[in-house]
Amino acid sequence: MGSVTLKKKKELNYRRGPTHGGCSQCDSYVMDFPVCGTRGEFLQTERRCKVMGLNNGRAYRINPDNICDAYDNSEHMKRYLGSVAQGDRRDAAN
Ligand code: SF4
Repeated sequence: MGSVTLKKKKELNYRRGPTHGGCSQCDSYVMDFPVCGTRGEFLQTERRCKVMGLNNGRAYRINPDNICDAYDNSEHMKRYLGSVAQGDRRDAAN
């Protein structure tokens, strides 16, 4: 019995990612999604994606090294460049 592939993953060409970047750098990536059992009890945290869906099922699991056509890291880069700029200001002040 093979694993069920999410329709959205097929539509967005979810696939193995590049050496650098990928889901772990994407703004839609959720590192610690709380997976719950049938009675609502907490089981564990897993990786999810806001675009693919924040649901318990294993079909929603996301590999941080993969990528899809909806990849967007613009917010991630803004935060990164902001922290670099802050570091530059701190260096200049010292
Ligand atoms: S939108 Fe695509 S690239 Fe971004 S986290 Fe989700 S599956 Fe990965």
